[in-house]
Amino acid sequence: MTRFDTRAIHAGQDPEPTTGAVVVPIYATSTYAQAAPGEHSGYEYSRTDNPTRTALQVALASLEGVDEDREGGCVATASGMAATALVGYLLKPGDHILMPDDAYGGTFRFISQVLAGQGIEWTVADLTDPDAVAAALRPETRVVWVETPTNPLLRVVDIAAVADSAHSAGATLVVDNTFATPYLQRPLSLGADIVLHSTTKYLGGHSDTVGGALVTADPDLIERLRFLQNAAGPVPGPFDSYLVLRGIKTLAVRMERHCANAMAVAEFLAGHDAVEQVYYPGLVDDPGHLVAHRQMEAFGGMVSFRLSGGPEAAIRVSTGTELFFLAESLGGVESLIEVPAAMTHLSAAGSALEVPADLIRLSVGIEHPDDLLEDLDRALRRM
Ligand SMILES: *Cc1c(COP(=O)(O)O)cnc(C)c1O
Repeated sequence: MTRFDTRAIHAGQDPEPTTGAVVVPIYATSTYAQAAPGEHSGYEYSRTDNPTRTALQVALASLEGVDEDREGGCVATASGMAATALVGYLLKPGDHILMPDDAYGGTFRFISQVLAGQGIEWTVADLTDPDAVAAALRPETRVVWVETPTNPLLRVVDIAAVADSAHSAGATLVVDNTFATPYLQRPLSLGADIVLHSTTKYLGGHSDTVGGALVTADPDLIERLRFLQNAAGPVPGPFDSYLVLRGIKTLAVRMERHCANAMAVAEFLAGHDAVEQVYYPGLVDDPGHLVAHRQMEAFGGMVSFRLSGGPEAAIRVSTGTELFFLAESLGGVESLIEVPAAMTHLSAAGSALEVPADLIRLSVGIEHPDDLLEDLDRALRRM
């Protein structure tokens, strides 16, 4: 197997055989001509399969460590939430999901407001605490849902440890790898059964498309997920698949800069008088640092922090930057700032997932780090 950076550019992306085009074409077609009824190229209808989507699926599977040598594969979906919904279709009434107490707000909303209505039970626990995980598992637990680093508190979950507990309880371990990306962390190699992505974020990388994916090394599971992808139909179109595929080609170089810039921002904030607390697993005194150091290549591009001035100060700072755009989402080349309690995590208000009202979350982009620090410094001075 070639190395990660090379596979990002080549896996599933051979030149197109008819013309030699070096870029996978956008196959804008819903259907495929057949030579005789049932006699076709392997492609029949684009909900079932489309060559641009296939290329993306092969590339993503390869980046998560699943290629021709290992069975399994990837299903690309219309969004990260569509990928979550496909996991939901694996469950039946009475099954139980154990999820983190600071999961992505949309994941929490789907499980607590959609799956719960279909008779699926759920509870939350602090998955960074092995005793809390052991205590929360039930005989009915079918899925343990891990996000690491978590959103928005950037806590780090020991994937291998949770995999052991989940498997001993007979549950499937799903890891949302959106924040880390396969460049920094490969959960399947640590015992996860399914990796989930919002490809909207770092994989796409340019804030210009919405998509998702599931990857597994389990041949039965991928067959079931492919069946569900086709049966339920939440597939990405060929243009969106192309955009994610194009983003993936530069994932390795982008992640290097995201990580370096985020570390610079975290250190700057940690030394700033107006800042009360910084959440970044790359800081040596962060509670997640040791586990992150073990299971990740570097610490990612997301940084959260709290100011000493409370929620009003958080609003002023989040509206006071110029390069950091005030916006939801993350993982693009441009830096973003947001207040989770009022934006991405609004649906968690009053619930077990409530986040501090004065928390600010940064998606640190790949601009020049000095410009980013100056922008933050100006906003902190003005607050
Ligand atoms: C954005 C996000 C999702 C949902 O993905 P969409 O593409 O917005 O549907 C799931 N998990 C995490 C960690 C995310 O950041």
